[in-house]
Amino acid sequence: MNAPTAAAHLLPAIHLRDVPPALIDALQSRFGTQCSTAQAVREQHGRDEGSLQAPPPSAVVFAESTQDVADAVKLASQYDVPVIAYGAGSSLEGHLLAVQGGISIDVSRMNRVLSVNAEDLTVTVQPGITRKQLNDAIKDTGLFFPIDPGADASIGGMSATRASGTNAVRYGTMRENVLALQVVTASGEVIHTGTRAKKSSAGYDLTRLLVGSEGTLGIMTEITVRLYPLPEAVSAAICSFPSIEAAVHTVIQTIQLGVPIARVELIDHHTVRMVNAHSKLTLREEPMLLMEFHGSPAGVKEQAETVQDIASEFGGQAFEWASTPEERTRLWTARHNAYFAAVQSRPGCRAISTDTCVPISRLADCLLESVDEVEASGIPYFLVGHVGDGNFHFGYLIDPDNADERTRAEQLNHQLVARALSMGGTCTGEHGVGIHKMGFLLDETGAGAVNMMRAIKRALDPKNILNPGKIFAM
Ligand SMILES: Cc1cc2nc3c(=O)[nH]c(=O)nc-3n(C[C@H](O)[C@H](O)[C@H](O)COP(=O)(O)OP(=O)(O)OC[C@H]3O[C@@H](n4cnc5c(N)ncnc54)[C@H](O)[C@@H]3O)c2cc1C
Repeated sequence: MNAPTAAAHLLPAIHLRDVPPALIDALQSRFGTQCSTAQAVREQHGRDEGSLQAPPPSAVVFAESTQDVADAVKLASQYDVPVIAYGAGSSLEGHLLAVQGGISIDVSRMNRVLSVNAEDLTVTVQPGITRKQLNDAIKDTGLFFPIDPGADASIGGMSATRASGTNAVRYGTMRENVLALQVVTASGEVIHTGTRAKKSSAGYDLTRLLVGSEGTLGIMTEITVRLYPLPEAVSAAICSFPSIEAAVHTVIQTIQLGVPIARVELIDHHTVRMVNAHSKLTLREEPMLLMEFHGSPAGVKEQAETVQDIASEFGGQAFEWASTPEERTRLWTARHNAYFAAVQSRPGCRAISTDTCVPISRLADCLLESVDEVEASGIPYFLVGHVGDGNFHFGYLIDPDNADERTRAEQLNHQLVARALSMGGTCTGEHGVGIHKMGFLLDETGAGAVNMMRAIKRALDPKNILNPGKIFAM
């Protein structure tokens, strides 16, 4: 393991490339009202939910078809101008920032379900459909798509960031759930990767290469993902603990015993307080696990009893059950809104979100040492975690105009990543690298692996126009 470097503190390096008026004219003539240069539209497309900033792109193309994406990329390529794919704009690490200028290609209007293959448990969609839109569209099939980042992200954005969420402990991440892609390459060519078959040994696994590539290798225009039968029985419960340590040990033992729990989320007492205020709930303001069990009625009962026994060994209070679908939705909505609840708790603040993930056996050490560190720093924070995967997020709530707070928060993040890497973990379990974690990627993988990524990027995007300046510097 290499020690994390100060590169992790970098604010975006901005090297604007020329966007000739001739390109904007060509885009406007090809796309008409689908191309906007309005300041507000450009600004909305030049930022994400993270705390970094850069000048906005010069124009936004609202693509409505694969051909639109291909034509926009071809025009940009002709003028050597960067293109940044835009899904729902919920990424957190500076993914969408136009750090080298360029144009944004917004695919949110490409939001149709193209085909549901219920018998094969797959669906093919356009990239702009959001996870909630997809689940609404297939609700009559008895199937569902489980991956649920807190935001209502697009399937294209989720594939591009290799996202996961609360259900990953049972259903996996986008890595396991994307089967096939249609992709517009840097030259504007349309290619296909993967098939709807459950497995394949056909050549390089380009689907896996593109999933998690953050818009730097191609723009996805069709995506085939796995679906799952809606579970026969679903139960959700909350359980409060005397300490974070007790909650974490309950999770570790649950996972080590192989209980197929569907969701197990840690929320610390600060965050419970923020969630109560935001979602008008009255949860006990103590460290809490929010859990969900899926299966047959007997299976769910058995899983819940096992976890309840483990929790009581560690001083957990009796489970409080959310038995109706409405109660469950209310609880999970509150969990998914924890980020916004936290940001509202300090008016004007921005959250610097961490995303480390460690092997489950190291979760308690990593988490508890990090809690001590942030408590000692005095920076306000929230803590939530998909702890069944060993993944947790601190959100340091900083005043964006206070350079000292930003430096201290970045320092905490730096120390946290160093700890996670030393324990065999990763700097990012699910949010991706973007700009913010570029230094950490080098620390995690070493120069050899980053050089291999650079070689792939050069081969597939020789003009470096696809979301340049992200993941690693060229
Ligand atoms: C409150 C909150 C909670 C969150 N919780 C989670 C969580 O639990 N788990 C998690 O994984 N993430 C989480 N996130 C982060 C975010 O939701 C994910 O990163 C999500 O996958 C981004 O999807 P998007 O559609 O918003 O993509 P965008 O932000 O629009 O884009 C993200 C990246 O993908 C690229 N991209 C977008 N569409 C395409 C395409 N069609 N082809 C190629 N590249 C494309 C963009 O260029 C960019 O680099 C959370 C964010 C917020 C604000």
